[in-house]
Amino acid sequence: MQVQTDTTPRRNRCSLCRQVGHNQRNCPHTTEEATRLRIAFNTEQRQKQRQERQQLQQETQRDNQYNAEWRANIFAQVVNMEERLAAIVDSQPTTVVPRSGPTVRERKIQEIIFENSEMIPNGLYKELMDALVIRD
Ligand SMILES: [Zn+2]
Repeated sequence: MQVQTDTTPRRNRCSLCRQVGHNQRNCPHTTEEATRLRIAFNTEQRQKQRQERQQLQQETQRDNQYNAEWRANIFAQVVNMEERLAAIVDSQPTTVVPRSGPTVRERKIQEIIFENSEMIPNGLYKELMDALVIRD
Protein backbone atom coordinates (compact mmCIF):
# COMPACT_ATOMS: atom_id res chain seq x y z
CA MET A 1 0.00 0.00 0.00
CA GLN A 2 1.23 3.46 -0.94
CA VAL A 3 1.91 5.93 1.86
CA GLN A 4 0.02 9.18 1.49
CA THR A 5 2.38 12.12 1.86
CA ASP A 6 -0.16 14.81 0.96
CA THR A 7 -1.09 16.73 4.10
CA THR A 8 -4.21 18.31 2.63
CA PRO A 9 -7.12 16.46 4.31
CA ARG A 10 -9.46 16.94 1.35
CA ARG A 11 -7.01 15.22 -0.98
CA ASN A 12 -6.49 12.36 1.45
CA ARG A 13 -10.12 11.44 1.34
CA CYS A 14 -11.60 8.58 -0.61
CA SER A 15 -13.60 9.99 -3.52
CA LEU A 16 -16.39 7.45 -2.97
CA CYS A 17 -17.06 7.75 0.76
CA ARG A 18 -15.01 10.89 1.63
CA GLN A 19 -13.39 9.05 4.57
CA VAL A 20 -9.66 9.28 5.29
CA GLY A 21 -7.08 6.47 5.25
CA HIS A 22 -7.85 4.84 1.93
CA ASN A 23 -8.76 5.67 -1.66
CA GLN A 24 -11.49 4.67 -4.06
CA ARG A 25 -9.56 1.57 -5.23
CA ASN A 26 -9.54 -0.02 -1.78
CA CYS A 27 -12.68 1.56 -0.30
CA PRO A 28 -14.02 -0.92 2.31
CA HIS A 29 -17.61 0.32 2.06
CA THR A 30 -20.40 -0.95 -0.12
CA THR A 31 -21.64 1.47 -2.80
CA GLU A 32 -24.70 2.22 -0.70
CA GLU A 33 -22.74 2.85 2.48
CA ALA A 34 -20.12 4.92 0.61
CA THR A 35 -22.87 7.06 -0.91
CA ARG A 36 -24.48 7.59 2.48
CA LEU A 37 -21.12 8.59 4.02
CA ARG A 38 -20.28 10.88 1.10
CA ILE A 39 -23.62 12.68 1.33
CA ALA A 40 -23.23 13.06 5.09
CA PHE A 41 -19.71 14.45 4.65
CA ASN A 42 -20.78 16.88 1.92
CA THR A 43 -23.74 18.06 4.00
CA GLU A 44 -21.47 18.70 6.95
CA GLN A 45 -19.02 20.62 4.75
CA ARG A 46 -21.82 22.74 3.37
CA GLN A 47 -23.08 23.47 6.88
CA LYS A 48 -19.59 24.55 7.95
CA GLN A 49 -19.29 26.82 4.93
CA ARG A 50 -22.73 28.27 5.61
CA GLN A 51 -21.78 28.94 9.23
CA GLU A 52 -18.58 30.68 8.13
CA ARG A 53 -20.53 32.79 5.65
CA GLN A 54 -23.11 33.71 8.29
CA GLN A 55 -20.38 34.67 10.73
CA LEU A 56 -18.74 36.88 8.11
CA GLN A 57 -22.11 38.45 7.30
CA GLN A 58 -22.77 39.18 10.95
CA GLU A 59 -19.38 40.83 11.33
CA THR A 60 -19.97 42.95 8.22
CA GLN A 61 -23.41 43.87 9.54
CA ARG A 62 -21.95 44.95 12.85
CA ASP A 63 -19.37 47.11 11.06
CA ASN A 64 -22.04 48.70 8.86
CA GLN A 65 -24.26 49.34 11.83
CA TYR A 66 -21.39 50.97 13.69
CA ASN A 67 -20.60 53.20 10.69
CA ALA A 68 -24.26 54.12 10.24
CA GLU A 69 -24.55 55.04 13.93
CA TRP A 70 -21.37 57.08 13.74
CA ARG A 71 -22.61 59.00 10.69
CA ALA A 72 -26.08 59.52 12.16
CA ASN A 73 -24.44 60.87 15.32
CA ILE A 74 -22.38 63.40 13.32
CA PHE A 75 -25.50 64.41 11.40
CA ALA A 76 -27.41 64.91 14.66
CA GLN A 77 -24.55 67.02 16.01
CA VAL A 78 -24.59 69.23 12.92
CA VAL A 79 -28.36 69.69 13.17
CA ASN A 80 -28.03 70.47 16.86
CA MET A 81 -25.28 73.01 16.12
CA GLU A 82 -27.52 74.67 13.53
CA GLU A 83 -30.42 74.87 15.97
CA ARG A 84 -28.22 76.43 18.65
CA LEU A 85 -26.82 78.92 16.15
CA ALA A 86 -30.35 79.79 15.05
CA ALA A 87 -31.44 80.21 18.67
CA ILE A 88 -28.57 82.62 19.37
CA VAL A 89 -29.38 84.62 16.27
CA ASP A 90 -33.12 84.69 17.05
CA SER A 91 -32.54 85.86 20.63
CA GLN A 92 -31.08 89.15 19.40
CA PRO A 93 -34.21 91.07 18.39
CA THR A 94 -32.43 94.32 17.51
CA THR A 95 -30.23 92.70 14.93
CA VAL A 96 -31.78 92.03 11.60
CA VAL A 97 -30.35 88.79 10.37
CA PRO A 98 -31.50 87.72 6.96
CA ARG A 99 -30.24 84.16 7.31
CA SER A 100 -30.54 82.39 10.66
CA GLY A 101 -30.59 78.68 9.80
CA PRO A 102 -29.22 76.83 6.81
CA THR A 103 -30.48 77.83 3.41
CA VAL A 104 -32.62 75.54 1.30
CA ARG A 105 -29.56 74.87 -0.85
CA GLU A 106 -27.43 73.94 2.18
CA ARG A 107 -30.12 71.61 3.52
CA LYS A 108 -30.36 69.94 0.13
CA ILE A 109 -26.59 69.46 -0.01
CA GLN A 110 -26.59 68.04 3.54
CA GLU A 111 -29.31 65.61 2.55
CA ILE A 112 -27.39 64.48 -0.51
CA ILE A 113 -24.19 64.01 1.51
CA PHE A 114 -26.07 62.15 4.26
CA GLU A 115 -27.88 59.85 1.84
CA ASN A 116 -24.64 59.01 0.05
CA SER A 117 -22.50 58.90 3.18
CA GLU A 118 -21.66 55.21 2.59
CA MET A 119 -19.63 56.24 -0.44
CA ILE A 120 -17.80 59.09 1.27
CA PRO A 121 -14.70 58.46 3.42
CA ASN A 122 -15.33 59.29 7.10
CA GLY A 123 -12.88 62.18 7.28
CA LEU A 124 -14.27 63.85 4.17
CA TYR A 125 -17.86 63.32 5.35
CA LYS A 126 -17.22 65.16 8.61
CA GLU A 127 -15.32 67.96 6.83
CA LEU A 128 -18.20 68.50 4.40
CA MET A 129 -20.80 68.48 7.18
CA ASP A 130 -18.71 70.93 9.22
CA ALA A 131 -18.19 73.19 6.20
CA LEU A 132 -21.96 73.42 5.68
CA VAL A 133 -22.52 75.09 9.05
CA ILE A 134 -19.79 77.71 8.64
CA ARG A 135 -21.24 81.20 8.73
CA ASP A 136 -19.44 84.30 7.48
ZN1 LIG B 1 -13.94 4.92 0.79
